[in-house]
Amino acid sequence: MKAIAFRGVGDVRTETVPDPTIVDPTDVVLRITTSAVCGSDLHQYHGRGGALVQPGSVMGHEFMGVVDEVGAGVTTLTRGDRVIVPFSVSCGRCEWCRRRLPTQCATTQRAVFGGRWGHVFPGGQAERIRVPFADHLCEKVPAGMSDEDALFLGDILSTGFVCAENGGIRPGDTVAVFGAGPVGLLAMQSAQLFGPARVFAVDRVDYRLALAGEFGAEPVHLDLGDPAEQLRAATGGHGPDVVLECVGHETPFTQAIQAVRAAGTVSSVGVYVETSMGFPAREAFFKDLNLRMGICNARNYMAPLMPLVQGGKLRPARIITHTMPLGDAPKGYAIFDKKEDRAVKVMLKP
Ligand code: NAD
Ligand code: ZN
Repeated sequence: MKAIAFRGVGDVRTETVPDPTIVDPTDVVLRITTSAVCGSDLHQYHGRGGALVQPGSVMGHEFMGVVDEVGAGVTTLTRGDRVIVPFSVSCGRCEWCRRRLPTQCATTQRAVFGGRWGHVFPGGQAERIRVPFADHLCEKVPAGMSDEDALFLGDILSTGFVCAENGGIRPGDTVAVFGAGPVGLLAMQSAQLFGPARVFAVDRVDYRLALAGEFGAEPVHLDLGDPAEQLRAATGGHGPDVVLECVGHETPFTQAIQAVRAAGTVSSVGVYVETSMGFPAREAFFKDLNLRMGICNARNYMAPLMPLVQGGKLRPARIITHTMPLGDAPKGYAIFDKKEDRAVKVMLKP
């Protein structure tokens, strides 16, 4: 089959690789109908954040498709079912999964499809994929729901929602979102569900700030000066009640802590490529900072968020700017990375 393979820093290629097969009785094999390029793929693409992906590995953890082969031990799925799958691979049975923390799964050693830690599971930027623990991982998609509406439930929509939820936004609050990439934009949509009075979007990319405006966010342009100062000036000198960090670097993390009001909350979902980084401890202490951060347990959110998409309260498909054949993925990575051609979210069709 055709798949997108990692070959080195800044180098992904369309290659022919062996078709996946059923390995364990609890597996299914999906025929992929849509996959996407994620901001987290860009970390791997650049070799940021430690270990490189093995050369030749199939990339991608955002994918959905149709069940094509079913292992003998699978009880809830049949050939032809349309399903979404979360980005992290979990067994559903270990101690961590039973605590509803599937991203900490002991069985898979915290694996991610197409990732570089834990057990290796080839990714979804491909024509087909093996999904282990299929009864647990697969969520059926109603016939009337498009791939474009369903796909992001497995990763960036759940992540944006969790970021807003962890912020503890209350009606009337002021919220600032650092990063108007796919995750930040979906965090803005999610924040609106909690009834904030105002939402600000912080970025330096004009077309992304313009899209944020559609989701009710007022722009804070990084090129116009220190974002914490700009946010204080816009909020009567106090700073926002809640700051959502959706970038994943020391600079926006520090800026988020500097911007939030005293006793406010910073909620961070950016994947930090730094293994350790500076922390403004004194400011955080005297501010009575509340801090939440972490990887998203997307498996827990796919079903609860689905009706919000079906009812139009969340509009994830609005962030899609490009849909291209799978074989064009190298170009998709490049424009998403360099923010060319007004790219926000790139979808791939096998
Ligand atoms: P992206 O790279 O497209 O978006 C990042 C945005 O941040 C860009 O628009 C960029 O211009 C902007 N930016 C850069 N520096 C900034 C600063 N100082 N202040 C404000 N904005 C700044 O990627 P994305 O797909 O939106 O992903 C964002 C982050 O979320 C990545 O780190 C990704 O790995 C992470 N992520 C985490 C999870 C999770 O489970 N926690 C899941 C998916 C993605
Ligand atoms: Zn992702």
